[in-house]
Amino acid sequence: MLKFLPSPQSAARWCARERARGRTLGFVPTMGALHRGHLSLVERAVRENDRACASIFVNPLQFNECEDLENYPRDQARDHALLERAGCAMRFGGELAQFFPAAHDPREIAARDAGPYARGLEGAFRPGHLPGVRAIVERLFATVGACNAYFGEKDFQQCLVVQEIAAGMAGVNIVICPTVREKSGLAMSSRNRRLGAADLRAAAKLHRALRAARQAWRDGERDAGALEALMRAQLQDARMQIEYAEVRDPAQWSEAAPRSLRGAKRARALIAASLGGVRLIDNIALE
Ligand code: AMP
Repeated sequence: MLKFLPSPQSAARWCARERARGRTLGFVPTMGALHRGHLSLVERAVRENDRACASIFVNPLQFNECEDLENYPRDQARDHALLERAGCAMRFGGELAQFFPAAHDPREIAARDAGPYARGLEGAFRPGHLPGVRAIVERLFATVGACNAYFGEKDFQQCLVVQEIAAGMAGVNIVICPTVREKSGLAMSSRNRRLGAADLRAAAKLHRALRAARQAWRDGERDAGALEALMRAQLQDARMQIEYAEVRDPAQWSEAAPRSLRGAKRARALIAASLGGVRLIDNIALE
């Protein structure tokens, strides 16, 4: 049976009790509206730990647009059933203020710098988003304590920020999981359900453009500008508004991105684009 705990305080007590019994914990933070991508993380947490838990919290701090927050899909009953079926032992949620110690204003905390990996890309196009993610993830880790924490590679820059948070904490190990996709190649996302049929068809171009970049990389192309131009050409569509289509060396994230990747063993191609007002992101490893 999946246990629901309505506050981070009650969740912290449950996690501490499980650990005191010698059990390892797997933790999957989510904003709900679960799909197969989320469930792949939960299933792995169940497999690799004695107990798996998940948070469902639509974090207002990470939405830079009120409309996006209001339109974000919510379906607790369905999410509960899916988590239970996946073998999750506990899910928790709460109100924003409950996650933060008294006398700490969450909005002030979320206004702080989110670290070197928050610069550029999402950092440039969604001001406040990664600082908001960082603020809540720190509190979620403080709630759950020592655990294996599972994140999706789809949100690649978020993974870099989260790995940096965990590096400064004892006992939290980050596990990055592959992106689960629709047959068309479109990365699964809670936002996809807001796409109409024509937008869904156009959305498949994101993965196609990333695959084209990967093929060019395998053929020896090491000029970031050329790889980016190739992706933009593949994304051509009257419905699509491209925010960025970039290639970066994750090892040099915080520095001015070098244009030539000659000598780089690996890189990442990353895209953000909107279709019919729905913002989509995706990325692929170049290696
Ligand atoms: P969200 O509810 O969107 O905050 O996502 C919760 C977690 O699920 C994050 O670590 C995401 O990266 C991950 N996730 C979202 N979509 C996918 C996907 N298609 N495949 C794998 N993981 C995903």
